[in-house]
Amino acid sequence: MRIEGLAAYAERFTLPSLGHRQVYGDMIPGGEGMIRPMTTNEEKYVVSGYTNENMRRVLKQVVVEPEGFDPWKLIIADLLYLTFKTRMVSFGSSYRLDLECPQRNCGYVNNGVLIDLDSLDVDYLDEDFEQPIEIGPLPFEQMRKGDEVYVELNPLLSVDMIERVSDKARKIAEKTSSPQREAEYLFRLAAHIKSVGSNEFKGLDDAYAYVSKMPSMNSAYIWEHVNRVMNFGMEDTWLHRCTNCGVESRYMIPITSEFFRPSFFNNDKQEQGDVGGSQAEGEVAGAGDSRQRVISEFTGEDE
Ligand SMILES: [Zn+2]
Repeated sequence: MRIEGLAAYAERFTLPSLGHRQVYGDMIPGGEGMIRPMTTNEEKYVVSGYTNENMRRVLKQVVVEPEGFDPWKLIIADLLYLTFKTRMVSFGSSYRLDLECPQRNCGYVNNGVLIDLDSLDVDYLDEDFEQPIEIGPLPFEQMRKGDEVYVELNPLLSVDMIERVSDKARKIAEKTSSPQREAEYLFRLAAHIKSVGSNEFKGLDDAYAYVSKMPSMNSAYIWEHVNRVMNFGMEDTWLHRCTNCGVESRYMIPITSEFFRPSFFNNDKQEQGDVGGSQAEGEVAGAGDSRQRVISEFTGEDE
């Protein structure tokens, strides 16, 4: 089969954000496009290590419609959705996992649990949604009978922006010899805030300085609003009843090398041949595995 021929197997998709104009402009009207199966050449990017960056390199190739689609502009929810779509169109929707029961006194490993990725719900952003949104009055001032302060928020951020945030946080962490996650926590919040009261921020650093001194009560309030808007996209958890203790638990669906290189031998750990340096380990990640879910970390909660 010629590589171009894979476009014949392309499937239609609709981004959870519906291609929100304030984020994407005219790039992807209605969030609709076509995605084709990966080639082995493209697969190498994600099998060697799943990161946002590698995934976007794949998407640059496999999204065949619209033309000029720029995966570097994607917001988190859309990137996660297209990651799942890429997997499904390339390998089908069956995904087998070993799930380690999180219940105390159990810990039983449920082997080869079959997850049907196609059955996962997708929630779409409200068609009428516009940002910035205005929220307030801020609870801290209100509690003390002070001025009523309102805030303008941009809940939808591109992955690029989030990476800029990480970058800035890393530099501050280096300078101050403090953990990166501490600075990142503040920058993440700052990135969402456009203005507070009459104070419109000139940029990320400006907002960062403000957020650093903001009462914790207000930041909790702001996060709640951000997370409420961001509550759309692809369901990425799976409910499973443990066959040992009978308790139902919810598991994160991990994106590992197995996600992009499923075994045809149903968890058989026999050798799978040389894949030219990209190691196909045949390992199946349970709920407790370390996984590079860069895309799901942006929750505002310090883990
Ligand atoms: Zn159990």
